[in-house]
Amino acid sequence: MDMAYFCSKCKIPIIGDQCEICGKPGGNTKTLLKSSPVFKEELQMLSEATGEPVDEFNSLELWTANRYYYYEGKKIFKVIGGNLIENPQIKWVKNKKMVLDKLNRYDRFDEDEYCYRVKEANRFALGTLEEKAIRFVRETIEKLGKQIEYKAVSFSGGKDSVVVSYLVRKALGSNGILHIFANTTLENPDTLNFVEDFANNERIFLLKAEPQQSFLKLVDKALLPSRIHRWCCTALKIAPIEKLLRQILEPRAKILMFDGIRHEESSRRKKYESVELKSKIALQIIARPILKWSTLEEWIYILSNQIPINDSYKYGMRRVGCSLCPLNSSWSEYVIKFQSYPLVRDYTNLLYKFAKSQNIQVNIADYIANGQWKARAGGSSKHKYSVLSEISILERDYKFIRIGLSKVVKLVSIKEYLKPLNKKYQFKSFESKIGRKTIFLLSKKQKIVSKISIDKESLSVWWFEKDGSSYRQFLADLKKQLIKYQFCAYCGGCETKCVFQAITADAEYQKYTVDSDKCIGCGECISINKIGCLLAKSAKTTIPYKIMEEVANG
Ligand code: SF4
Ligand code: SF4
Ligand SMILES: [Zn+2]
Repeated sequence: MDMAYFCSKCKIPIIGDQCEICGKPGGNTKTLLKSSPVFKEELQMLSEATGEPVDEFNSLELWTANRYYYYEGKKIFKVIGGNLIENPQIKWVKNKKMVLDKLNRYDRFDEDEYCYRVKEANRFALGTLEEKAIRFVRETIEKLGKQIEYKAVSFSGGKDSVVVSYLVRKALGSNGILHIFANTTLENPDTLNFVEDFANNERIFLLKAEPQQSFLKLVDKALLPSRIHRWCCTALKIAPIEKLLRQILEPRAKILMFDGIRHEESSRRKKYESVELKSKIALQIIARPILKWSTLEEWIYILSNQIPINDSYKYGMRRVGCSLCPLNSSWSEYVIKFQSYPLVRDYTNLLYKFAKSQNIQVNIADYIANGQWKARAGGSSKHKYSVLSEISILERDYKFIRIGLSKVVKLVSIKEYLKPLNKKYQFKSFESKIGRKTIFLLSKKQKIVSKISIDKESLSVWWFEKDGSSYRQFLADLKKQLIKYQFCAYCGGCETKCVFQAITADAEYQKYTVDSDKCIGCGECISINKIGCLLAKSAKTTIPYKIMEEVANG
């Protein structure tokens, strides 16, 4: 549905053609489609932060979209600013005194009564919306039935996943569906509490995917994520879910995962399909029952059905996710700060430490307040681990190269990183008996193609084939594997790339192994990115665009 309007008589947003209480026909207000209800907690927070008497409004009496706040369908004030460091401000659009005087003359409504009226005013439209989603769930299961071993709800603790959980269970007529929650170790306390409570109260079978290492552990080596370097998504979410699925599924089986992604959330998500047979997690097929729902439709559904929500929404969070995410808005950062000071104090300290270590030439408080850390994209890093993200060419000659490494070269470990290359180039490797420090790469016909000789700090490569282009390609791939060898922090990124489940990156034993029987040499892990390792790429680049510009302009 792309229709929404505010019934001024019943004081309720309407998603259908008309208000089903008074019969007043609707209009079409696009802004309203993105609006969310404002709860008492947010009003009190705003009042405390700004000194403005906005806490005089009742819970759910205001709706908000694009930072404007609407009373009876009309803009009354706007909230400006607010971030990890600074408080927000309120700018009145209507005469404050007139609005508040008028407010005092009204009979106050209670929350339950309001939710009931929301339901009554939207009954038919809501029914249609729900029916369509339920039909989609049933038809998708029917269509994909034979291809899937399990069905599950991807449960983040955000409102979208809660709505999907309700719809899917309603469609199945049972609670017997797995809910999978990825604990990124960056969740805010409200989310963790909500997920537990929801599972208990709704009697749902919840499985938690936990990363091998926490964000704080990985960030030390990989540097903070930025909008471009979002290694955290792979390491803390995708890899742990993939690992969990491998444990529960039979070989070659798949899971049908219902998620709550919606087109309205971003321009990238606008392109998403309602069913995705291939996704970032190879073992899952994704289905999206509320892909086309607007924020308003979703909220009307939540209020009408009195569906429990994460407390973060009550404080004004519009999207609940990780607490320290480069995609978070500065407003979300402010809300997180208000909700959980200890958590944010840790993150702010981390940001200060990071800014200081990089010798940033701007005021550090401004750097954090303006979210410049999120723009880290290029430049050369001053990070202590960045040296591991590079290799040096010590000598070069015709079809010979000597590569210097910053990590002691151990044959037994480095061989694991060569295995995908052997498969890709169809080599067999053969180790020299004397000292076991030389590997010969042999073609299928047992012809020596390359010799790799290893000493403590370098690796010498000779190439005996005529074909120069395959030498160049081999060398490019070898460099990527050597960076992996130097840098690997066992984030699990390579494991998720390998649909053949040949790679194990074990953080506990600090071991990266490749199973030659499973590897088919597809090269996906080798070209995970331009340098061969997600974390190394993040650690390599430090300086944000804006700061680079400032430095360039003196
Ligand atoms: S080499 Fe692979 S598993 Fe290891 S840190 Fe890099 S991306 Fe992660
Ligand atoms: S992704 Fe897996 S199969 Fe492909 S080259 Fe790497 S280890 Fe081998
Ligand atoms: Zn009405």
